[in-house]
Amino acid sequence: MRDFPDDATCLNWLWQTRYAHDGEHAYCPKCETERAFKRYDTSQQRQSWTCTTCGHHIHPTAGTIFHKSSTSLTLWFYAIYLMTSTRCGISAKQLEREIGVTYKTAWRMMNLIRNELMEDEPDMMDGEVEVDETYVGGKRKNAKGRYPAKSTPVFGMVQRGGKVHAQPVRDASAFTLQPIIMKKVMPESTIFTDGHGGYQYIDTRGGYTHQRINHSEGVYVSGNVHTQTIENFWSLVRRGISGVYHNVSAKHLQGYLSEYVFRYNHRDDGAAMFLTLLLRAARP
Ligand SMILES: [Zn+2]
Repeated sequence: MRDFPDDATCLNWLWQTRYAHDGEHAYCPKCETERAFKRYDTSQQRQSWTCTTCGHHIHPTAGTIFHKSSTSLTLWFYAIYLMTSTRCGISAKQLEREIGVTYKTAWRMMNLIRNELMEDEPDMMDGEVEVDETYVGGKRKNAKGRYPAKSTPVFGMVQRGGKVHAQPVRDASAFTLQPIIMKKVMPESTIFTDGHGGYQYIDTRGGYTHQRINHSEGVYVSGNVHTQTIENFWSLVRRGISGVYHNVSAKHLQGYLSEYVFRYNHRDDGAAMFLTLLLRAARP
């Protein structure tokens, strides 16, 4: 609120970040050269800047997630801030209350922020990598230790001390999981898993050192052999989805995962998380 107190400030930030670093000169696509631009006051809700030579208009929000929205830029910026300001995220219901828009609008805004701004494609992992699968969306494990069919399998991995990756998968077979591991983890890394059958070919086919911890025998940590880091991430996701988001359809699961992955991977950035998302929103 201090940095972006009103719509004019937000718009001006977009103008300077995307088009005119000095606030006055920008490339004019019609003149095909750099020109001086001026903002003339009009009755439009969002002002445009005009080329002083040819009259071409530039709208600073063109091509961004803000462009076709009637919600003010201040509220958009505030929504982005709120989604980065807590470890577990906020719900559309909370956003609705916080910024005074309808539930549907809040939900749409969050979806756009998640899918357009929060998707991270981290570098390949190496060193010590924990790999694990979980099930999201259905109820918790039943008495027999099985997950109900409705829940969606999710596969993830984390480099210890580094970043996390998570994605919904069709199933948790070796056939499905192995190619993802090979795409995301550098050869000669050490991979830690539990005893799940989907990990049986990691060492022979992937060129990795494979360390297993046998949960079915009640062992969870043996020296540095464990999958606690990725399991802590899963519990954050599961807690968030059951407590904040209630039911997540398979279709929207990737968006929610992107949101959790983004916050985890930028956890040490502090306030920079907000600026990272704003800069992504300003991408051409
Ligand atoms: Zn021009």
